[in-house]
Amino acid sequence: MKMIQDFNFKGIKTIVRVDFNVPLDKKTFVVTDDTRIRGALPTINKIIKDGGSVILMSHLGRPEGKMEKYSLKPVLPVLEKYLGQKVLFADDCLGESAVKMSAALKPGEVLLLENVRFYPEEEGKPILPETATEEEKKAAKAEMKLKQKEFAKKLASYADVYVNDAFGTAHRAHGTTAVIVDYFPKDKIMFGFLINSELAAMDKVLNNPQHPFTAIMGGAKVSDKIMLIENLLNKVDNLIIGGGMTYTFIKAQGGKIGKSLCEEDKLDLALKIIEKAKEKKVNIYLPVDSLNADKFDNEANTNVTAVDAVPDEWLGLDIADKTIKEFSEVIGKSKTILWNGPMGVFEMEKFSKGTTAIAKAIAAATEKGAYSLIGGGDSVAAINKNGLADKVSYVSTGGGAMLEYMEGKKLPGITAIRGE
Ligand code: AMP
Repeated sequence: MKMIQDFNFKGIKTIVRVDFNVPLDKKTFVVTDDTRIRGALPTINKIIKDGGSVILMSHLGRPEGKMEKYSLKPVLPVLEKYLGQKVLFADDCLGESAVKMSAALKPGEVLLLENVRFYPEEEGKPILPETATEEEKKAAKAEMKLKQKEFAKKLASYADVYVNDAFGTAHRAHGTTAVIVDYFPKDKIMFGFLINSELAAMDKVLNNPQHPFTAIMGGAKVSDKIMLIENLLNKVDNLIIGGGMTYTFIKAQGGKIGKSLCEEDKLDLALKIIEKAKEKKVNIYLPVDSLNADKFDNEANTNVTAVDAVPDEWLGLDIADKTIKEFSEVIGKSKTILWNGPMGVFEMEKFSKGTTAIAKAIAAATEKGAYSLIGGGDSVAAINKNGLADKVSYVSTGGGAMLEYMEGKKLPGITAIRGE
C-alpha cells in the first residue's frame, strides 16, 4: 500500500475525497465549525508543496438532488484563508466545467467540486415510488449500481491518483469513498494524513494498548453501543458505564430507577454484559449515585440518591459526586483510555458536571502519560467545550465511522484502499 508521506506528487493530478460536511449558519450560510476543513489541510498542503494539483470532492448534508442550501460554496473562503491561495470551484461535479477545469489544472492549483451528493449515484440508493414491487426494486437497484460505476469512473478520469481522507464517511460504500478506487491502478491509491492518523489512534488502542486499559461508555442507549462494548470486553481491564444507559443496567439488577431512561427489551442483554465481564475478568464500574430531576429541563428541581433508589416520578440525568470520585480514580490509574458518550444530559448546564469531570480526569491522566482517544460527537463536543482538545491524545473526527471500526467491522472506504 502506498503511503502519502513517501509519495511524490510532482506534476501529478490528484483527486482527494475529503469530508467537508461542515455545519453552516442557517441564515448566512457561513461555516460555523471548520474542524473538518482544517483536518484536510495536511494532505492538500503536501500535494501542493510537492508540485502537484488537487481536485477536492466532498458531500455536504443530505440533499435530494441539487439543492442550493447544500452547496459547498461556503467552504471556499475558509479553504482559501487556510491555504493562502485561490481555490477554483466547479458548480457541478460531473458538468462540463468540472471536466474542463480539472483538465486545465496546473501544478499548485486547487479545484473544489460541487457536492457529490447532488447525484443520487454517490450514495447509490435508487429513488423509487413507495408502490414499487419487489421486482421493480431489484431492477432499480441493479440499474443504480451500474450508474454509480459510471459516476465514479467519470470522476476518476479527472486525475491520475486517488487519495481518501474522508474518515467521517469511511463507513459508507459510496461512489467517491469506495467504488472510485476500482478506476485507479493499485499504486495510485492511498489514504490521506487524516485517515492515517485516525487509523493509527484506533489501532493503538485496539491492538497495542498499555494496561490498565479503561473504556468509558456513556450516551443514551445500550443498544447503540452494544457491539462496541462486546468487542471491548476482549481488550479492556476496566469498563466504566455512565449516561442514560446506566439505568437499564441498574433496573436489570433489580434497582429502582424512577422514570429514568430505560430500554426494557435490553434488560437481559445488560445482565449478559455484566456476566461476560466477570468471565473475562473485566472490572465493570457502574455509577453509585445519581443526580435526579423532576422533569427533563434545565430548570428542574434536583436531588441526589443512590443510583438504585431513584424516587418514582424522578429521572436520573447525570452521575453525582461519589461516582465522579470513583470514576476519576479509575481513570487516573489508567494507561490507555477510550471515551465514547457523555455521562449525563450535558447539553443542559445543570446536568453537565459529570461529563465535564470525566473530561478533566482524562486530561489529567493524559498529562501523567496515559494515551487517550475520544470519539463520538457528544464526547468530542464536551472535550471542546472545556477547552481540553489539546490535553488528550487524540480526538476522532468520525463518530459513526469510529464506532464501526472499533466494533471490529470492516469499513468500505478503508478496505477499498487496503485491498482487503
Ligand atoms: P449518544 O449519541 O448515544 O452518545 O448519546 C448522547 C446523548 O445521550 C446526549 O444527547 C445526552 O443528552 C444523552 N444522555 C446522557 N445521559 C442521559 C441520561 N441520564 N438520560 C437521558 N439522556 C442522556
